[in-house]
This record gives sequence, C-alpha cells and structure tokens, in this order.
Amino acid sequence: MEPSEVRDRQDEALRLQIGEIDEAQERRDIAEIGLVEAALNHLDAGMCGDCLDCGAEIGLQRLLVQPAAPRCAACQAAHERSK
Ligand SMILES: [Zn+2]
Repeated sequence: MEPSEVRDRQDEALRLQIGEIDEAQERRDIAEIGLVEAALNHLDAGMCGDCLDCGAEIGLQRLLVQPAAPRCAACQAAHERSK
C-alpha cells in the first residue's frame, strides 16, 4: 500500500469519528439552538434584552452568562416554579 493510501484511510477514519462526535453534539445542542433562535427572533423584533414576561431589561450580567435568556432572573424563577 502506498503511503498516501495509508494517509487517506486515516483521514477517512478521522472523518467518520468527527462525524459521530458532531452528531452527538448536534443532538445535545438542539434545545440550545432553539433558545438562540428565539433570542435572534427577539433581536429582529427589536426587543433585545427585554424580559419576555414583564418587559423589564434583562441584566447584562445575566445575558453574559446566558445570552439566550428569554426572561429576567425573577420571571425565570417564577416560570420554573410554575412548571
Ligand atoms: Zn421579567
């Protein structure tokens, strides 16, 4: 086997592995992507950083920790309690 063939096979194996990792990560990220898309729609609507429930500005610190946060900390806590 030519050295270039060996490299091709290794590349192929690596590509397959990366594909599997990507898939697992994709599944994990789907929920988060939904949140990010909601936040982007929020941005389009010119409502960036405003709480979905009370309309108050979501604190910068909170947005830095969770950029896709749809609610202020108080409303998020209330939302989670009401689940
Ligand atoms: Zn709120």
